[in-house]
Amino acid sequence: MRYDEEDCLPISGIQHFTFCRRQYALIHIERLWVENTLTFDGRVMHRQVEDPFYLESRGTVIVSRSVPLISTKLGLYGIADVVEFRSCEAGGVVLEGRKGMWQPYPVEYKRGRGKPDDRDIVQVGAQAMCLEEMLHTAVSEGALYYGQTRRRQMVLIDDSLRSRVTVLAQQMHDMYDSGRTPAPTKMKACDRCSLRDLCLPKISSHKRVGDYIRIMSKEKEVGNRPL
Ligand code: SF4
Repeated sequence: MRYDEEDCLPISGIQHFTFCRRQYALIHIERLWVENTLTFDGRVMHRQVEDPFYLESRGTVIVSRSVPLISTKLGLYGIADVVEFRSCEAGGVVLEGRKGMWQPYPVEYKRGRGKPDDRDIVQVGAQAMCLEEMLHTAVSEGALYYGQTRRRQMVLIDDSLRSRVTVLAQQMHDMYDSGRTPAPTKMKACDRCSLRDLCLPKISSHKRVGDYIRIMSKEKEVGNRPL
């Protein structure tokens, strides 16, 4: 199956969808977005990377920034922070004005450090699959760069990652088409979620509204106490 270009969804949504289905729906279906320090730092970091038309050559690596991506198979589109083109005798793509073959290698920049789940990895996987479709070549590796640790983490683009990305993309489309936002599930990560105040995850973890009101009043009491 192929999606029409106008039906493609943003690649960045795959990390929200993997982290929390409700967060995905709140951002991408209900179009709610609340800035917190984590998202602000993340945007600043991306702005530093985004520099359209920038092409930098470092010996056997050509660095291209803010590269537009699309896959009509996955139904996803977006912009890669960086795509490196690495000189490779075994294959890759031909670049205008350059000799030899060049292997595309997506690099996604993130603030903070590596996550306990694979939300960042699937984003790189989706970028790699877009590049494969657009450039008609195999992409076997990519990377994540974390601002807090200033380290790169290699991402292997294998068949199991490709299958996971394909399933997630299909589920994203199903949820988007349904227009339904799932109920909240209280979890540890809710404390760092920028949508926490809109999502109200505590409501769902208490069947009785009275329990919820008691907890909220207690939190207010603690907040009002003099330091
Ligand atoms: S607060 Fe928790 S349940 Fe609500 S969107 Fe954020 S992570 Fe998901």
